Amino acid sequence: MARIVQKYGGTSVGSPERILNVARRIKKYRDQGNEMIVVVSAMGGETDRLLSLASQLNESPDEREIDMLLATGEQQSVALMAMALHGLGCPAISMTGAQAGIETDGVHSRARIRNITPHRIEDSLADQKVVIVAGFQGRTEEDAITTLGRGGSDLTAVALAAVLKADLCQIFTDVEGVFTADPRIVPEARKIDVISTDEMLEMASLGAKVMQSRSIEFAKKFGVVLEVRSSLTDTPGTIITEESDDMEDVVVRGVSADKNEAKLTVRHIPDTPGQAAKLFQMLAEASVNVDMIIQNVSEHQLADISCTVPQAELKKIQTQLETRIREATGAEDILYDENIAKVSVVGVGMRSHSGVAASTFKALADHGINIEMISTSEIKISCVLPLERADDAVRILHQTFKLGETTRET
Ligand code: ASP
Ligand code: MG
Repeated sequence: MARIVQKYGGTSVGSPERILNVARRIKKYRDQGNEMIVVVSAMGGETDRLLSLASQLNESPDEREIDMLLATGEQQSVALMAMALHGLGCPAISMTGAQAGIETDGVHSRARIRNITPHRIEDSLADQKVVIVAGFQGRTEEDAITTLGRGGSDLTAVALAAVLKADLCQIFTDVEGVFTADPRIVPEARKIDVISTDEMLEMASLGAKVMQSRSIEFAKKFGVVLEVRSSLTDTPGTIITEESDDMEDVVVRGVSADKNEAKLTVRHIPDTPGQAAKLFQMLAEASVNVDMIIQNVSEHQLADISCTVPQAELKKIQTQLETRIREATGAEDILYDENIAKVSVVGVGMRSHSGVAASTFKALADHGINIEMISTSEIKISCVLPLERADDAVRILHQTFKLGETTRET
């Protein structure tokens, strides 16, 4: 007998048929003698629908009320799932985040889990019930309802798996697992069988959005083993786990592209101490998340600094910060480029294999793709390049590192 936490995303519970389909799957696992804790998201599109209702009534709705509203999405699906299970003759009980003992801080819409006291869950498991917990929500010490940030049901599942000491935490979604590249761009992309949490974190933050990044960080911290798999098939998915020695045998695990960034270039800043500090201090105060940064060699005591920022922040920078940046730093000009993408190769094997950077740059060069910025970590090489070549670049690198079904070496 194992203790299993399963999480089903919005698509997997998007209609009564799908809920029933999931309920059958849960029952099957339970009938095999497993203890089942199931976290569900709101039905697909429901969270967005609620947000749009709110915005029709108030341009900037109160965050406490937003959380109150959004939490209802998950509350609907847990109750429906419990009813579906009852219909199949399977004992089950639904719980809100609060009832499940999930306590958070008071930061509405992106609360952090502080503590979980799962005695109600334990009691219901002891009563042979499947426990269905509403994802994405908790409550504060003062009894306010909070939510954990978009995609937060993943976090609920991982946190419960950690505190309940589950043997396995399965994330059921609408894809079969984590792929070596986006299969819509690279048809020969392969499903990855096992990936380390560090690689998965890089892939997630690089735009391969299979799971919420915070939940992967949490899994890493608490040693939770995850499996991402499809709720529509019976195929095993991708295991996300601590790094093991043999993982370094594969040099590159995957290639990903992030098309949601923009490049900001601040031209001709006087090359004196403190200028970069001023620039990035202002960006930080405006909560702009800066990614890559480069500063060129200065000429005539003037330097250029470029960085990448989320595209969604560009407006804010243009309207609220541009003049202040110029005044504070004495920069001559600020340029924006939205037509860029960040393409990255990721793999823990890079630590022990040399030449990955050289092969990456050569492959791009051979296809006439100009690299505008480069950044690396121990297990990743990222290149900023023109947006219209991003898909080509992903295909080329996928091929270069022989990641495909047909090109893979044995
Ligand atoms: N329903 C929430 C969202 O759409 C949480 C989740 O799906 O994980 O972001
Ligand atoms: Mg989701």
